Amino acid sequence: MREIDWIRRYIAPLVDDEEADRLKDDAAMLTLNGTFALSTDMLVEGQHFLAGDPLETVGRKLVRVTVSDLIAKGALPSRAMVSIAWPKNRGEADFAALISGLGADLAYFGMALVGGDTVSTDGPLCLNLAGLGRAAGARLVRRRGARPGDQLLVSGVIGAAGLGLAALKSGMETVHAAHYRVPNLVPVSMAHWISDHASASLDVSDGLLLDAARLAEVSDVALEIDLNAVPLAEPSSRLEEVLVQCTAGDDYQMLMTVPEGCEAPGLTPIGRVSSGSGLSLCFNGRNIPLPSRLGFEHGD
Ligand SMILES: [Mg+2]
Repeated sequence: MREIDWIRRYIAPLVDDEEADRLKDDAAMLTLNGTFALSTDMLVEGQHFLAGDPLETVGRKLVRVTVSDLIAKGALPSRAMVSIAWPKNRGEADFAALISGLGADLAYFGMALVGGDTVSTDGPLCLNLAGLGRAAGARLVRRRGARPGDQLLVSGVIGAAGLGLAALKSGMETVHAAHYRVPNLVPVSMAHWISDHASASLDVSDGLLLDAARLAEVSDVALEIDLNAVPLAEPSSRLEEVLVQCTAGDDYQMLMTVPEGCEAPGLTPIGRVSSGSGLSLCFNGRNIPLPSRLGFEHGD
């Protein structure tokens, strides 16, 4: 890899900010006022995207996984730093495609690129994006903060990316495959609503049930989910099919608790917070046992 050439050709044009000084300095320099959320996410080839995925979509996914965390905290995306471990056997056209997707979505979500790092590797393609977001309202929202009596809301639909990954693995391009490659995020403006109303919030990255259980644990409350209320990519009356979608990863929808009576377009009530601990599930009016696997744990 002609590292300097490629950075100059593909990445430097994305940076026109004086904070980055056209990537010719050791560090970006920022003067900021306000409250900010800072989050970072890694994508590894073969683990978070498929080796055959078009790199333009990988670049877009890289932006979206971090933007999703920022919106969930009630923050508006603002700055980004990108780090790339580039496989020696991949060529310049792939690099150009990656940066084209990255640049398109940084612009779409209003993020200025202020720096990063690029190295060559004999291993798989590894990508990292760190994102800084400004509080959209008076406060940022933690996972911890759900209160008994709150209701649990989710955005969009659950399970599309999981169904898409399963389809791609069996060689089929379906409508869901596009959601696996490029997560369909809520509008950035939802950060305002989350900042104003949510008592606790996170993005669903590892499976609805696992992420809900995490929210309940750090908030020290009990959470009951009505599986019949969950908006699924493929609605089903069969518990097995419902659980497949509720334990699949990569949806990047918003999951939050809000005080009773708070409603917003695009959000569906799926459960309730009470005092106690742990996650419980209800299907067709009956409590059902938790599945042994709630989602993707590190190491899966
Ligand atoms: Mg997250």
